[in-house]
Amino acid sequence: MNRDQVFEFFRRLAEANPSPTTELESTNPYQLLVAVVLSAQATDVSVNIATKPLFEHIKRPKQMVDLGEERLREAIKTIGLFNTKAKNVIALSQALIDKHGGEVPRTREELQALPGVGRKTANVVLNTAFGEETFAVDTHVFRVCNRTGLASGKTVDEVEAKLEKIVPQPFRRDAHHWLILHGRYICKARLPECWRCPVIDLCRYNPKTPPPEERAKATASRSATRASSKARTAKGATASRRSAGRSRSRPSRLR
Ligand code: SF4
Repeated sequence: MNRDQVFEFFRRLAEANPSPTTELESTNPYQLLVAVVLSAQATDVSVNIATKPLFEHIKRPKQMVDLGEERLREAIKTIGLFNTKAKNVIALSQALIDKHGGEVPRTREELQALPGVGRKTANVVLNTAFGEETFAVDTHVFRVCNRTGLASGKTVDEVEAKLEKIVPQPFRRDAHHWLILHGRYICKARLPECWRCPVIDLCRYNPKTPPPEERAKATASRSATRASSKARTAKGATASRRSAGRSRSRPSRLR
């Protein structure tokens, strides 16, 4: 995509959703950090279900440390990898108390030094909690960037570096939310819903998915073709059986 197309791509996503944000629920940067750590290889919905009652009482790292690993594990047991995540959340909460006065740090280096916090988590926190122009690349962003040709790359780091380079103002701050939401609800992994995609003409992915009515028609026509070819085969087989029967019943002198 050239510069004008990239601008138009984000302009349309922004028009469709002027105020995008994370779907993870939290009331402060600490809760957001915990929620993002819990969301690794889990859906935001499953994280919200587990954190809703938890976050009513746990708003600060000290409260989490006081809760303890065992009770935290119990509270998040519906989320994948909950054993490791409980360990990390307690360890990162302790580290926040020991090294940052109980506050969430505002630099990538400090964030990534916390247990269970990788580059993507740091990017989400920097962006969503502190308004930094960072580009967290998760599975949705990676897929959308590669399919569309917006920022193709073999690794998440490559895609992030390209986004960093090409995303123009005034879209830099919210770009990753638009890309995540676009991947989650329209450019889905199994079947992208191209027929209702606002950037269909800018996207290089082919073949585009046709609307459900067209797909239903195509399926019906394929089934009809299959049925008629089956019928033809069956008719042919009956005819040859008959002809074989006739030749068997001829008198031997005529053969
Ligand atoms: S046209 Fe299809 S593949 Fe391209 S971005 Fe839209 S939904 Fe995804």
